[in-house]
Amino acid sequence: MAPKEHRYDAVIVGAGGAGLFAALELGRAGVKAAVISKLYPVRSHTGAAQGGICAALGNREPDEPLWHMFDTVKGGDYLADQDAVEIMCDEAPGVVFDLEHMGVPFNRTDDGKIDQRPFGGHTRNFGVAPVRRACYAADRTGAMVLHTLYQQCLKAGVEFFDEVFVTGLLFDGERAAGVVALGQRGGDFLVFRAKAVALATGGWGRIFRVTSNAHASTGDGAALALRAGLPLQDMEFYQFHPTGLHGIGILVSEAARGEGGILRNDGGERFMEKYAPRLLDLAPRDMVSRAVYQEIKAGRGLGGADYVGLDLTHLDAEVLDKKIPEITDFARVYLGVEPKEEMIPVAPTAHYAMGGVPPTVNGEVTPDERGTVAPGLYAAGEVACVSVHGANRLGTNSLLDILVFGRRTGRAMAAFAQENGRPEIAPGAAEPTREAIGRLRRQGGGESAAAVRDEMQAAMDEGVSVFRTAESTARAAAKVEELLAGYERVRVSDESSTFNTELTEALELGNLLALARVTAEAAARRTESRGAHSREDYPERDDGRWLNHSLCYYKEGRLEFKSKTVTVTRFEPKPRVY
Ligand SMILES: Cc1cc2nc3c(=O)[nH]c(=O)nc-3n(C[C@H](O)[C@H](O)[C@H](O)COP(=O)(O)OP(=O)(O)OC[C@H]3O[C@@H](n4cnc5c(N)ncnc54)[C@H](O)[C@@H]3O)c2cc1C
Repeated sequence: MAPKEHRYDAVIVGAGGAGLFAALELGRAGVKAAVISKLYPVRSHTGAAQGGICAALGNREPDEPLWHMFDTVKGGDYLADQDAVEIMCDEAPGVVFDLEHMGVPFNRTDDGKIDQRPFGGHTRNFGVAPVRRACYAADRTGAMVLHTLYQQCLKAGVEFFDEVFVTGLLFDGERAAGVVALGQRGGDFLVFRAKAVALATGGWGRIFRVTSNAHASTGDGAALALRAGLPLQDMEFYQFHPTGLHGIGILVSEAARGEGGILRNDGGERFMEKYAPRLLDLAPRDMVSRAVYQEIKAGRGLGGADYVGLDLTHLDAEVLDKKIPEITDFARVYLGVEPKEEMIPVAPTAHYAMGGVPPTVNGEVTPDERGTVAPGLYAAGEVACVSVHGANRLGTNSLLDILVFGRRTGRAMAAFAQENGRPEIAPGAAEPTREAIGRLRRQGGGESAAAVRDEMQAAMDEGVSVFRTAESTARAAAKVEELLAGYERVRVSDESSTFNTELTEALELGNLLALARVTAEAAARRTESRGAHSREDYPERDDGRWLNHSLCYYKEGRLEFKSKTVTVTRFEPKPRVY
């Protein structure tokens, strides 16, 4: 049966903060737009964002977008493109006010302004001391943003295809022309034709075992782009958040330290005094994660175990109950720990992909190192690498990134759709996807996707974690390659068409394996330490050789790498002292 075809002017894959803000702009511009999401929109991972969204509003103390820009560039170990960072920090207040006007229920100061709290790496006056820059709605900021944007999209007439899994990108020559998808409710194939297509599919924390990311964070959009011959940028930079609940990785937001929480080792020592004397527990995440890891390695984890303590016992009960109610509940529910009386056992957890599909500051995907634009194809949110985070993202800068660049992407797509005609799609364009899925379902006797995923995650946790070496990354890359070869034999035994999660998990596994391979090989290639990429065998940052982005292409089964210049405007690279 021929796949059902839908026609829109713009199609957005993904209903997280990035996808919804882009869609809202299209709706506001009167462009016929659809959002396709494998999840019901408000289940997107944006809804799990706890701590806040930063903007130099200066509501609690003096602050300036330029200080925010400096912190972001320094926090990213000078790998971010500074023109993009400047746009993000300048547009931050406007985006936060836009959210406020749409109805996001931010916490308030006594005089009714949006309240702000400190977060790691955000400082006043170019690094002097922590500054209160994160706007927040208790520790449910992302959920509030997501629900608000979803309501606004419905109001603006955006159409939604929920629980529809995108499996392929369609092109008319060089130009993006639409996507192919599998309806999860009925197992039907759908073709979406569009003048402009955006990837807003979020991150891929699930390449690791211990992660803060949702089960659905499997990097589908990045893998689709890679398979379509597009590059992935800076994939070696994967952020580990220092405070995941021990063993399970569920996040305890940096907001806990923003509100005064302290990390302690077995001797009760506030060990961050040794690693970042000025910013202490509010140093950037890469530094705090390394410090936690080193304490554990030196046998100073609590009781000698592989975790340290996050101490909130000295904080007012009211702060815990009103400003971080959800994360304190996580400690009670998942670990049986009462944060008012005892320390929360925490260790680094895989959290955020700095790398991804490279777009311009207007979301247009750029297939080469010269900034050429792939017509009609856009990327925004965690799947994209603009790059505003460089080698290490600061807390609360991701909600900001997805909204600033989601909004810009929507505006650019609207203009493109209004100025251009409809691309053609060759008949039978959905066939390769249909065949690939048919193959997965016919394969008998092989391993289950879950077993292969476990092996991949173990290899990545072991080899491409907070610290890496030539040997550890090579081992992980070899293991992932072996698993990729075996992927051909992954078994899908469930034959049903209705919510066949075994099938979608197998498809997600294929995407995870592709991204794990790129991450491991990119980490093996970069022989320096910068931001979240810490090579024990190359402990220094090497600006002479490595002050550049990496671009990774998939060609005939192999990965090829190129370099791309970093845009430096206001801040020359300096040693990073906190
Ligand atoms: C626990 C946690 C807490 C965080 N806290 C903060 C914070 O306080 N502040 C901050 O700035 N950042 C925070 N972050 C980071 C930030 O939340 C994310 O980077 C950001 O929300 C990603 O948004 P997104 O729109 O790119 O993607 P997501 O919100 O992940 O949405 C992805 C969308 O893509 C869809 N999708 C994916 N694949 C497919 C497919 N194949 N077909 C169809 N649809 C698909 C999904 O259905 C979903 O709608 C946190 C992250 C986590 C995990």
